[in-house]
Amino acid sequence: MAKFLCLCGHAIRTSGEIPHPYQWNVLSDVDFDHHSGTVDADELYQQATLMYRCPQSDHLWIYWRGLDHPPSLYSPGDDQTRV
Ligand SMILES: [Zn+2]
Repeated sequence: MAKFLCLCGHAIRTSGEIPHPYQWNVLSDVDFDHHSGTVDADELYQQATLMYRCPQSDHLWIYWRGLDHPPSLYSPGDDQTRV
């Protein structure tokens, strides 16, 4: 089962539960605009960029280039109560 450690130490799994509790499926407005009329949920899912939101620290990990490449990290601001 694939997983990685968030900066806060929380282990985030990229597989397992379906639907995944921390996974977001991000779609650009341009990609979304290519769909008109009936939307195929499976097709949208395939085009989406995977994002994981740490449930402990709210860090966002985005796989812009797919799961074969390391994710980019986005921190939730400068709130000192967070890691
Ligand atoms: Zn975290």
